[in-house]
Amino acid sequence: MTTLTALAPERRIESDHDELLVTTFYRLLGVRDGADPGEIKSAYRALARKYHPDHNSGHPLSERRFRLLAEAYEVLSDAEQREKYDRYGKVALTKRGDQPGFVGGVQRLLTNVEQAIDARRKGQKRRGDDRRLPLEVSLAHAVFGTTIAISVVRTGTCDLCKGNGADPGTGVEACHVCDSRGSIREGTGLLAVDTPCSFCDARGKVALSPCGACVGVGIRERTLEVPVTVPPAAKTGRRLVLRGYGPSGVNGGEAGDLFVELTIKNHPLIERDGDDLRCAVPITITEAVLGGEAVVPLLEGGAVAVRIPPGTRSGQFLRLRGRGGPTEKGARGDVLVRLDIETPVVDSHVARELLTRLDQVSIHPLRASYVRALNQHQASEPGGS
Ligand SMILES: [Zn+2]
Ligand SMILES: [Zn+2]
Repeated sequence: MTTLTALAPERRIESDHDELLVTTFYRLLGVRDGADPGEIKSAYRALARKYHPDHNSGHPLSERRFRLLAEAYEVLSDAEQREKYDRYGKVALTKRGDQPGFVGGVQRLLTNVEQAIDARRKGQKRRGDDRRLPLEVSLAHAVFGTTIAISVVRTGTCDLCKGNGADPGTGVEACHVCDSRGSIREGTGLLAVDTPCSFCDARGKVALSPCGACVGVGIRERTLEVPVTVPPAAKTGRRLVLRGYGPSGVNGGEAGDLFVELTIKNHPLIERDGDDLRCAVPITITEAVLGGEAVVPLLEGGAVAVRIPPGTRSGQFLRLRGRGGPTEKGARGDVLVRLDIETPVVDSHVARELLTRLDQVSIHPLRASYVRALNQHQASEPGGS
């Protein structure tokens, strides 16, 4: 079994946590709109103590909540900023305290489950995307078939906290920002809009000590090993469909499909020809004349020795029956071995002499008949035969 890494989800969703809280600084601190500075201060202090990241070993989710509280307090505790905010909302405030390190930290940790969180916030049921996975297999695996394990990343309910986002043994509390509703109603009558609460990620509950496995979001990635069966006689471009092994769906939506696309690697000695296999073996002049033995590689591994018959011509084939690839009828094709006579490289006086001597003592019937025909041709009238 070979293991391949696959499928890091590519999509990123920009975090819009801050935007969702545009009109809810008061709500964030749990005070009424007209609260006096003293009320705001004590509300902030109590919440800051509760959500301070130091109590949660610098947990990113706690840090984010803490930052939201701090941002709200920064504005509401400053008379001038508060007035602007009351009048024009958050857009009126210059610089939103862009802290890329902070946001980046959360995003890096959440990237692969963001899609799921985003959809949970919006309450959408969505099927996972389909995905392509290129897979390179050896010629032997493609010819005879094999099973290859691939790693597939899934997102689903965190098994450690059972999805409630709290460290095992600790509890969850009602979200004070949305009053456990998971969303915040803004506007009235027909214009009322329910905005998902980003303090609790639309869950209505907040884990004071977030689950370490899922960063407190209740959704976690898991890596599954999935066996992929490559059938015998597979060709490059063949698509194997793994239904339901694509990226997970969200909010109960089904997972997408995974399309494994095969590419067959070349073998250095063996080529495929239908059900048959082909290979070329270089032999010497002497082996061709006197016969000998050639060692032929087998695709399933190892090699066999085959007899080179005396008087072998260059390019002559030998056929190893039943040693090729599997056929549709359950039999096996052949291995066709081409014997190529190699013209020797001669770089010594002795070798040159021996070869010349060899020529003189050998019989060359083809050459003899050629010379006879050539002589006749030269002796005949031009235009005759
Ligand atoms: Zn968890
Ligand atoms: Zn909430």
